[in-house]
This record gives sequence, C-alpha cells and structure tokens, in this order.
Amino acid sequence: MRDFYLYNTLTRKKEKFTPVHPNMVGLYVCGPTVYGDAHLGHARPGITYDVLVRLLRKIGYKVRYVRNITDVGHLENDSDTGEDKIEKKARLEQLEPMEIVQTYTLRYHDAMRKLNVLPPSIEPRASGHIIEQIGLVQKILDAGFAYESNGSVYFDVAKYDLQHKYGILSGRTVDDMISNTRTLEGQDDKHSPYDFALWKKAAPEHIMHWPSPWSEGFPGWHLECSAMSEKYLGEEFDIHGGGMDLLFPHHECELAQNTASRGKGGVHYWMHNNMITINGRKMGKSLGNFITLEELFKGTHKELAQAYSPMTIRFFILQAHYRSTLDFSNEALQAAEKGLKRLMQASKDVKSLATDEKAASLNEIAEIENHIYDALCDDMNTPVAVSYLFEAVKIINSIKDKSISINSSDKAALEKLFLDVATDILGLEDEQSESTSEKVIDGLVNMVLDVRKQAKANKEWATSDKIRDDLKAIGIGIKDTKDGCEWTLNE
Ligand code: ZN
Repeated sequence: MRDFYLYNTLTRKKEKFTPVHPNMVGLYVCGPTVYGDAHLGHARPGITYDVLVRLLRKIGYKVRYVRNITDVGHLENDSDTGEDKIEKKARLEQLEPMEIVQTYTLRYHDAMRKLNVLPPSIEPRASGHIIEQIGLVQKILDAGFAYESNGSVYFDVAKYDLQHKYGILSGRTVDDMISNTRTLEGQDDKHSPYDFALWKKAAPEHIMHWPSPWSEGFPGWHLECSAMSEKYLGEEFDIHGGGMDLLFPHHECELAQNTASRGKGGVHYWMHNNMITINGRKMGKSLGNFITLEELFKGTHKELAQAYSPMTIRFFILQAHYRSTLDFSNEALQAAEKGLKRLMQASKDVKSLATDEKAASLNEIAEIENHIYDALCDDMNTPVAVSYLFEAVKIINSIKDKSISINSSDKAALEKLFLDVATDILGLEDEQSESTSEKVIDGLVNMVLDVRKQAKANKEWATSDKIRDDLKAIGIGIKDTKDGCEWTLNE
C-alpha cells in the first residue's frame, strides 16, 4: 500500500497516515444543518471528503464514512442562546420542524448526487441519537467536567482547562477567550460565558424536546458529533473532517467532550477544508452573494454570467488544494469549464486511439502515474494531480494528430490511468455522454433483437412476430432492413 500523508490540524503538521485498525479507516465528517438549500459552502466539504474516501479506497483501504445530519440543537449564531435554526425556519414556513428537515435533507442529497459525491456509509441524525447524547452528558457530569444549572447542563471549561488544556485544536487559550467574550443576556445559568451547553432546558415555546434526568430539553449542538462518532467509529478513530468554520467552537468543544468523557481526544487526524469566497468576498446572505447550488446549476443568481454544470463546479473545486481558500468568479469558472471539456474529450479519445505494435514504449505514462499518486498521497494535492493529468492529455492529443504512435499495452495503461484517476478518484464524469439509463435501454433492445434475429434464422416466425408486437406495445418500433433491423423509441 502507498504511504499517505495528511495534514493534521491538531499537530499543525503533515503526518504519515497510520490507521487505528489495519486496512479500515474510520472517517467522521460534520454534515449540514438542514434548514435551507444546499449552497456553495456545502459543495467544498462534500467534494473534498468524497475525494478522500475515493482515494483511500483506491489505494487499498476500506473506509467507513460517517457524515451526520444536524436536525436539532444548532441555535442561531452557533451560540447557546437564540432560536433553533430548524425551528425558526419551520415557524417562518408554517411547517413542522421535521418537514423542514425532510425537505432540505432530500435537496442536499440531490445536490450531492449531481456533484457525483458518493453517499456516506452511515448518515446518522442528531434527533435519532438523544439517548446516546444523554448518556454522554451523564459521563461528563460523572467525570466532574460539567455542572447542572436550572435544568440545563454546561461544560466547565475552566475546570477542564486545568487538567487537559482547552483550545489545543484551534490554538486559542482560555485567557484569549475571556477577553473576547461578552456576557450575553440569558446566559446567567453559566458559571462563565465561555462554558458551553451540553443540555438545554426547553423554553415553553420550544417545539423539539425530550425528557432527561435534568429537564425536558434538547442537546447542545456540539454533543451529537461526539456521541455519534463514538457510536459508529469507536472511542478512537482515524479522521475527523469538516470546514474551517467548524474548527471553533464546534470541533474544539467536541474534542473537549471526548477527552472529558473518555480520557482521550479519540481522533487521530483532524482535517479542515478552507472556505470559498465570491469575487474576493466572504459569502453571506447580507452581502447578496449567497449562491445556492441550484442557482449555480441553472445560472439564476445575479452574480452569475451563465449556468455552470455540476462537473464544472466539481472540477473547479479540485483545481485548488483543499486547505487553500478558493475564490469563485465567472472568469475562473469559465476557465474550469474549458479545462474540464479538454480533459473529458481526452478521456473519450483515449479509448479509440489507433495502436501500432511497433511503437516504442512511452515511459512517460508510468512517470505521470507516479507523479499523480505522489501528489494525491501528499495531503491530497489535487491541483498537482490535475496538472499531471493534463500531461497525459498532451500525449493523447499527439497520438491523435499522429505526431507519435502508441502500442496496445501503453494504450491500455493510459486508459486505466484516466479511469482510475479522473473517473474513480476525482469523480469527474462526462456530462455530454448518454446517461446510464439510455445505455441500459440500448443494450436491452439490442439483446432482444438478437434473439429475434436468431428466431427468424430458425424460421420460428411466431416468436419473431411476438417480439416485434411486444416491443411495439411498450413504444419501441422496429423496421426490418436488408442488413438487419433498426429500432426507434416512440416518445
Ligand atoms: Zn459536528
């Protein structure tokens, strides 16, 4: 198996990846809070961790990929006060909170499918793991790192900090936090403003609540990921991913909860993708540049000069390293669209290259392949991998215009390279090509027509007529010609 190096946010360096269990990687990624349409901010982590899973599988690991759905407990402004994001949307749209969750989970799945992001192995929901979360709160209370206050339970940051140091993931210290935290109204239950909620007593107007030893209430936002990652990946697992915006407070709090309850952080590699900006500005509803994926695919947002296909977005995201910021602009997307077209054309052309057995072997192919895997295994350097893939495109084009020739084993190697890297790892699909269902219909009709041809050759006229009539009944017309048979699908 190839060595794989990954940048670890916790140690702030690139480390050789060694899984807890040989050959099986446990990956947990914080998924969306489902209270609105999937937007650009969802595309980057979706695609980043998709490529990570695809790459690890390609180099020989099994991966258990857990990506959660947050459907309760995520309050406005990521704080411990304010309305639940899902409840707020439900109130505005006059729907049940779970109707909001269902609607936007389906839309998120739909957007991810269009981006060719494979579904995770397990997709747990916070509301389906209340028992596990209550158990975890109890463990943290028992360990002495939390306190109950008026039916709510808070994590005792100062006490935890004395023993374990709070802030090691994000590089903050409790002293910084004291100077940066304002005392907010409604937080009087807390001993300190930087303590965070593990369990919140529900106010009378709060819709989603569950019984617990402390109150009728709901879990704090950070709790679900500690509870669900432990449930599905164990007390110690390999990689925890998410966007940089989740580093603090969400992941810092998760790490503290893990350590407080199990005595160890439990996560070996913390991985964070950087953020997307639009024309150099942060994306935000108040800035008028908040673009949903649907608007991007249809070109309906005022910042967009045209529609951009899901594969253009995917390719564009992969042209930057996941730890760099990425700026969306029409110019950059149009360039990505062109580049992708060239790549997809070459991956089609490679299949029909004429071969010449007298052609000398092209050593560059193996070199390119090595460079690509070296780049991908070096903290998933997709832009470098893509640039080497374009070296292979050059070879294909030189063979096409007959400036060089290729033998059949090199052609097979080149084809495999495109299949392994462009299709399987980077997940790029040719959007121009016919869909799978079209291919299946094609194959099936031709198969049936072969049977009919055989029947005719055997003079089994009843069978051949029945096939013709049955095909007609489902809307497929056939016409016998002197070289065989043509068929058309009647719409
Ligand atoms: Zn999370």
